[in-house]
Amino acid sequence: MKKYDYLIVGSGLFGATFAYRAKQAGKRCLVMDKRPYLGGNVYCENIEGINVHKYGAHIFHTNNKVVWDFVNALVPFNRYTNSPVANFHSELYNLPFNMNTFAQLWGVRTPDEAKAKIEEQRADVAAMLGGAEPQNLEEQALLLVGRDIYEKLIKEYTEKQWGRDCKDLPAFIIKRLPVRFVFDNNYFNDAYQGIPVGGYNKLIDALLDGVETKTNCNFFGDEFFALLESFNIQPSTFNHNRVQAAHALAKTIVYTGPIDEYFDYQFGRLDWRTVTFKTRIEETPNYQGNAVINYTSHDVPYTRVIEHKHFEMFGQAVYDAPKTVVSEEYSSEYKPGMEQFYPVNDERNNAIADQYRVLAELEKNVIFGGRLAEYKYFDMAPVIEKVLNLNI
Ligand code: FAD
Repeated sequence: MKKYDYLIVGSGLFGATFAYRAKQAGKRCLVMDKRPYLGGNVYCENIEGINVHKYGAHIFHTNNKVVWDFVNALVPFNRYTNSPVANFHSELYNLPFNMNTFAQLWGVRTPDEAKAKIEEQRADVAAMLGGAEPQNLEEQALLLVGRDIYEKLIKEYTEKQWGRDCKDLPAFIIKRLPVRFVFDNNYFNDAYQGIPVGGYNKLIDALLDGVETKTNCNFFGDEFFALLESFNIQPSTFNHNRVQAAHALAKTIVYTGPIDEYFDYQFGRLDWRTVTFKTRIEETPNYQGNAVINYTSHDVPYTRVIEHKHFEMFGQAVYDAPKTVVSEEYSSEYKPGMEQFYPVNDERNNAIADQYRVLAELEKNVIFGGRLAEYKYFDMAPVIEKVLNLNI
C-alpha cells in the first residue's frame, strides 16, 4: 500500500483546499512547496505587527455563499471594503468610476449631469472614428468612457501595467469599463468581501491543520529525490523519472505548479507578466490613509502603493500601531527567476498552453489545478469553488 493517497505539489489555495477536503474524506496527503513557507501567493509576512501581503494585495470577494461560508467557518473575515483612490499628478479621484469621481473631474452634482458629460465626450470619439470598430485599446477605452476619464485614469496606468503604448495594445483587453451613477466607492459588486481576521496565514493554517507538509522542496529539484529516498524510494529504480517515482509514494499527484515546467518546456515557455515590490517601513501610523492608491501618471514609475495595515486595522487601531508598512508595485515582463503572476493570454501563448493541456489530459493519476497549472488568472474564491466541486 502506498504511503499517501495524494502528493500535493504547491500549498497555495488550490493545494491547501484540496488537502483540507482530502483529509475530511479520510485520505492521506503530503503537501510540498518549493518556498520556505506555505500558502502560495496569499502568504503574509509579519512586519511591525502588520500582515504584509508579500505577493501583492489580496482582497477576498465573492458572490458565492457556499464559498463565503466555507472560508468563514475556518477563520472569520473582517469588513474590509476595497475602495481604491487614484493619484494623477497629485489630483485625487475615487475609484471605481462613480459619482464621486465625476464630481471630482467635472464638478457635476447629479447622475443626469454626469451622464450628459460622458455622452458628450463619447459622441466626440464616435464622430472621430466615423463608425469604424475600435482598432486598439486606446480607441476602445475612449469610446467607452470619453477623453477625460481615459487620459487621467486609464491611459498611463495601463501603459505602465503592460509596458506598451495603449495604441499598441489590442482592444479586447478592455471589454467593459463600468461606470456607476451612484456615490459608491466599493470596488467590487460582490455580495461578500473581506480579509481573514489575523491575516491569510490563519486561513492556510486552518486548511492545512493536521496535514503533513514539507517546505523548501521543489518537485523538480534534487531535494525531491532526497525526500523520496527518505521514504525508501530510489529514484534510480524509476530511471530518475520523478513522476513515476512520485507515484511510488502516492496514488495521485495534485500538481499546482507551472504547466510548461511539468512538461519540460517541450512546446516552449509560456509568457507571464509580473510585479515587483519595494516594501519599506514608514515611521508614521498612517501614511496614505487608504490600503490602495493607484498612480495613474507616467511621472511616477510604480503603478500602486499599498499600505498593508488598512486591510486589517480600522479606526483607532490604525494609530495604536505606531509604524506602517508600504509597498510600491512595479509592473514588468516576467523573466526566469521572477514570480509568474498574470498569464499573457494572447494567441501565441494560448496555442502553446492548449498543447500542454492535451498532454495533461493524457497523464494518468495527475490532477492539474490552480492558476499556474491551468495558465489562467483566477481570483481566490473561484479557485476554492473549483476544489469544493471536485470529486475527492
Ligand atoms: P499559488 O498561490 O501561486 O500557489 C502555487 C504554489 O505552488 C506556490 O506556493 C508555489 O511555490 C508552489 N509551486 C510551484 N511550483 C512548484 C514546484 N516545482 N515544487 C513545489 N512547489 C511548487 N485573488 C483575489 O481573489 N483577490 C485579489 O485581490 C487578488 N490579488 C492578486 C494579486 C496578484 C499580484 C496576483 C498574482 C494574484 C492575485 N489574486 C487575487 C489571485 C490569487 O493569488 C490566486 O487565485 C491564488 O493564488 C491561486 O492559488 P493557487 O494555489 O492556484 O496558486
